[in-house]
Amino acid sequence: MAGTGDAHLRGTDADILLRVDDLVVEFPVGRTGLKVHAVSGISFDIARGETLGLVGESGCGKSTTGRAVMQLPEPTSGAVTFEGRELTSLSRSEMREARTHMQMIFQDPISSLNPRRKVRDIVLEPLHIWKKGTKAERETLVDKVLEDVGIDPERAKTSQAHEFSGGQCQRISIARALVLDPALIICDEPVSALDVSVQAQVINLLEDLKERYGLTLVFIAHDLAVVKNISDRVAVMYLGKLCEVGPSDELYRQPLHPYTNLLLASIPVPDPEAEALPHEVVGEPPSPVLPPSGCRFHPRCPNAQDRCSAEEPKLREMGEGHFVACHFPVEGVVSWDETVLARQVTTDGRAHDARDEPITVGGNATTPVPDSGG
Ligand code: SF4
Repeated sequence: MAGTGDAHLRGTDADILLRVDDLVVEFPVGRTGLKVHAVSGISFDIARGETLGLVGESGCGKSTTGRAVMQLPEPTSGAVTFEGRELTSLSRSEMREARTHMQMIFQDPISSLNPRRKVRDIVLEPLHIWKKGTKAERETLVDKVLEDVGIDPERAKTSQAHEFSGGQCQRISIARALVLDPALIICDEPVSALDVSVQAQVINLLEDLKERYGLTLVFIAHDLAVVKNISDRVAVMYLGKLCEVGPSDELYRQPLHPYTNLLLASIPVPDPEAEALPHEVVGEPPSPVLPPSGCRFHPRCPNAQDRCSAEEPKLREMGEGHFVACHFPVEGVVSWDETVLARQVTTDGRAHDARDEPITVGGNATTPVPDSGG
């Protein structure tokens, strides 16, 4: 299946920790012979120490992409290279070992923790399974990691997960992911189920831990406001395809893909006086069983033209490191305002620095810029 190109992949001079090439994940639909095209030929890479935000609406394939990187499920085709090893060719036992270097945290922290066990035992378990260190060394490490994520180790000895709040359970999930000293953590909607104030605390925690533990993060979310705070680069997905990839600041300052613009415009503004931004997207996302021809966004795109349904756009560079897969990308559209960004002010006063960058409000006149072909 045609992908959306690989022009955005970086060369060998970058210290690439994870590289995904032409990843395809399909699921059969019963015995109908049809398939769900969950992920359709996407490629991306992540440099060591980087955070990649992967965003898109529900059903776009972002979580499936994260899981397919872990080979859960195994991709239908494509390559996943992690720390120089091609994961799709590893045996089951080799893959089990490889997964200790790449951990995952999930949207619902409470159901991802064993309800029958004490929290400290849950965090200790991966060290037992992999026989890391002596008993005393394991316990010392677990206490340190619990303290680092803000959980009292003494309370963790006697309490089960249901005795903690949702935010605390997410901290415990992070501790469990950290004890094996992974290089990569895939965070699958880690704050979507939390209150906004708690979201900010967990995001700050992940940023702190990233520095302290030398982590690389994939941060999957449907909320572009959340992703901006933590990501170095952002990749936008729609119906199993990548549509835009770029440095976080650049992508939010100058979103080029019509879908990215619509996602930004749909972020609620906590100001009853604020003028509503136009939402020109029409209809529901098409079925991934029978995706549209050409550009998959064309049935809903306000800028669609005849070419869009006939020819799939490839990612092409339109700014430094800023790639878009669109025949008629837009310019001069900024859907953000400072009020929206203010929503992300953290409870400890560490508002993210985006508020220091003036962003033009309004300016919704779209200017399609045709590409030169392909
Ligand atoms: Fe797709 Fe065409 Fe819209 Fe670009 S302008 S997103 S190619 S439908």
